[in-house]
Amino acid sequence: MSEQPDGVAEYVARGEAMAAAEAHRRSIMRTKKFDTIAVHGIYDMEAALANQGSIIEPGFMSSAQHFENSDHMEAALAYLMPAWVYSRIANPTVHYLEETLALLEGYGFDGEASAVATSSGMAAVFMATNPFLEKPNAGMNIVASCRCYGGTFMLFAERYGAERGVDIRWVRNPLDLNEWADKVDGNTRFVYGETPSNPSLSVTDIAAVADIAHAAGLPFIVDSTVATPALTRPLTLGADIVVHSTTKSMTASGFAIGGAVIARHGITTDIGPTEMRENFAMYVKLLPFRDHGPGVSPFNALMTLNDLRTLRHRMDSMSSSTMQVAQYLEGHDHIARVAYPGIDSMPGHDVAARTMWLVDGADDYGTEVNRYGHLVSFEVKGGATAARRVFDGFEMIWRATDLGRIKSVATIPAISTHQQQGDEGRELASVPPNLIRLNVGGEHPDDIIADLDQALSALDRRSIVTRLRGDA
Ligand SMILES: *Cc1c(COP(=O)(O)O)cnc(C)c1O
Repeated sequence: MSEQPDGVAEYVARGEAMAAAEAHRRSIMRTKKFDTIAVHGIYDMEAALANQGSIIEPGFMSSAQHFENSDHMEAALAYLMPAWVYSRIANPTVHYLEETLALLEGYGFDGEASAVATSSGMAAVFMATNPFLEKPNAGMNIVASCRCYGGTFMLFAERYGAERGVDIRWVRNPLDLNEWADKVDGNTRFVYGETPSNPSLSVTDIAAVADIAHAAGLPFIVDSTVATPALTRPLTLGADIVVHSTTKSMTASGFAIGGAVIARHGITTDIGPTEMRENFAMYVKLLPFRDHGPGVSPFNALMTLNDLRTLRHRMDSMSSSTMQVAQYLEGHDHIARVAYPGIDSMPGHDVAARTMWLVDGADDYGTEVNRYGHLVSFEVKGGATAARRVFDGFEMIWRATDLGRIKSVATIPAISTHQQQGDEGRELASVPPNLIRLNVGGEHPDDIIADLDQALSALDRRSIVTRLRGDA
C-alpha cells in the first residue's frame, strides 16, 4: 500500500464521522417545532465553538476552501468526504440555509428530504426540471399548469418548447383532475404545478395530482413560493420536488434574490441514474448544478437565513391582514373580481381550506387555523385604463414587480411579469389587463385599506365628472 491512498482513506474516515455528526444534529432538530428549526437550523453550540463562538451563523464570503494537504484535497474533490471546496459548488453559509430549508419543507413529512439553494427562483425551476429532459426522444412532453409564474411560462414555452422541441402540454384548469390525467402519456417526463399561483392565485389539489403523476411513474414538482412551508408543505401531501423563489416571503426584507429545490428521497421517475432517484437534490447539487453554475452568493444565503427565522409569525399576521384586504376589495363597487384562496367565491377555496394551515397554529390559537398567504389579485371594473388609474393613485403601496415583501407592493402583471407572453399567453394564464396583484405587507391593515380606498375613489371622481358632462 502506498502512503497516499492511506492518507486519503484517513480523510474519508474523518468525513464519515463528520457526516454522522451532522445526521445526528439533523435528527435532533427534526424533533423540534417549526419556529425552533427556523431560528436554529442545524447550527448548534458545537458548530458555534468551531466558529469562534459566534452564536449567529457566520457568513463565509470566501471563494474557496484551503486544504490541509493533497490527501485532504483529493478526498474532498472526489466527493469522498463532506467539504465545500469552492463557493460555486458549495459554501458553509449556503449549507446552513440548505439544511434549514430541508428541515422546514420536511416538517411533518415522515421521509427524508434534501435541499439545494440556487441563485434565483428561476434557477431553482430550471434545476428542478432540466435533469428530466435528458436524452430527448420524439414525443417527449411535460404536463404543466398554465397558471404559473411568467418566468416559468417562458422557460417552458420558449426555452424547452420552441428551442428544444419539448411538447408543452398546458393544463388550463388545474382544478380539473381529468385534464391532468388526460395529458399524461408514456412520453411525459414530469408533471408541474404551482399553488397558489402567481398572479392568479389558482389552487391545485397537490395530493390528487401527485396520485395521477405517480400512477404514471412520474414525479410531481410543485412551486410553493406563495404558500411557503409555514402554510403548506407539498412533500407531506405527496409531491416529489418543491421549488421556491426564496426571494419572496422567505426573504421578506427584500435584501436578496435566491431560490431552492427541496426533494424527498426516492422520487418517482425512471429517468437518470439511480442517485438521481435516491436523492434528487444532492444529485443535482453534486453534478448538474456544479456544471451549470447557478449557485447563490453566501451573502444572499445569509440574508435569507436571517429572514427565515420569523417566517411563521410573518405569514400568520400578513395572511390575517390580507384576508381583511380581500374582504374589503370584495365589497367594493369598482372591483369586478377578487382572487384570494381564503374567500368563498374563489374556485378551489375548498382545496385551499383543506391544505393551507398555519403550521403549529394550535400552539397559538388553541385550535388549527387556516391561513392563505399575503398575495391577492383583483380586477378593476372599467378595463386596463381604470386599473392603471387606481394603480397610479397609490400613495404608500409601492409600484414594483415584486412580492413577498414586508412592505406592501403592487404590480399590473399584464404589463410587467406577464408582459412577454402576448395576449394569447396571458389569456391562457388568466392574466387580464385590468388585474392588479397586491402583496400585502406588514403595515397595519387599516393603513393598507385606506391607501386602496383613496386610490379607488379616483374612479368615483371620474364618474362624477362624466355625469356632470352629461356623457355618462
Ligand atoms: C418570483 C417567482 C419565481 C421566480 O423567482 P426569482 O427569484 O425571481 O427568479 C418563481 N415562481 C414564483 C411563484 C415566483 O413568484
